[in-house]
Amino acid sequence: MQEHADKQRQSGKTITFVPTMGFFHDGHLSLMQKGRKMGDELVLSIFVNPAQFGPNEDLDTYPKNLERDLELAEQQGVDIVYTPDTELLYPEGYQTFVSLETLPNFLCGISRPLFFRGVTTVVTKLLNIVKPHAAVLGEKDFQQLAIVKQMVKDLNFDVEIISVPTVREPDGLAMSSRNSYLTPEQRPCALTLYQSLCRARDLIEEGTTRAAEILESAARLVTSYPETEIDYIAVSDPVTLVDIETIDNPVLMAMAVKVGSTRLIDNMILTPQ
Ligand code: AMP
Repeated sequence: MQEHADKQRQSGKTITFVPTMGFFHDGHLSLMQKGRKMGDELVLSIFVNPAQFGPNEDLDTYPKNLERDLELAEQQGVDIVYTPDTELLYPEGYQTFVSLETLPNFLCGISRPLFFRGVTTVVTKLLNIVKPHAAVLGEKDFQQLAIVKQMVKDLNFDVEIISVPTVREPDGLAMSSRNSYLTPEQRPCALTLYQSLCRARDLIEEGTTRAAEILESAARLVTSYPETEIDYIAVSDPVTLVDIETIDNPVLMAMAVKVGSTRLIDNMILTPQ
């Protein structure tokens, strides 16, 4: 992969990169479509990164369908799908990790303490292997996007990070590979995330400025559904991720909710009048 990237760069070609864990949905396809429009060569990776899963998380059961993914990637005009084995990226004796000081200490990082260290480590490795000019990431994983942008800036990575808006099901549920875990009974409960975000947007449009009011309303909505458990609901500064009390500028509303044993996340930027 590195030799190939060198050749492409030497011949003046630009490389765009879409990192994924596979089991594609329209969100992934939208990243590929964005990437296809950008550079000469579009490289996609499929790698379920063990370093970003906690001991009791779904590493072993994470959904896979490589054959279908390859077909979809081909249809989107992807040039190369890079699917390294775990032993190739983390051989015996592996010992280097990349972690940020502050941004991982909020939101998802609280209940998943090693998650972002795993993400930033694998993204660093993949950027060094694929050597792209630009990488495309989804706003669905807002904190991950913020962390990768910060890392790229802090460590002088010579790559541009491009983001793509969240792609949703017709009823509003943010597309996620993990939606496949939901039972038919749980599927309506999963909508509570998007509904809470929309209700918050409405409250802000009506003039609410107290974050506490928005958080209470969201918590009430989520807990009105069966099988739901709130991990966090936060109204935060979209740059620092620090909690906000009074909404007088655009804020990030982000949430993680377990529906049964499936942990779902979603977010929205809320802009006061
Ligand atoms: P994953 O395979 O879940 O690790 O996601 C790979 C990339 O796709 C990440 O940059 C995600 O933010 C992005 N992504 C996942 N779901 C969506 C979605 N519903 N809309 C847009 N991008 C998404």
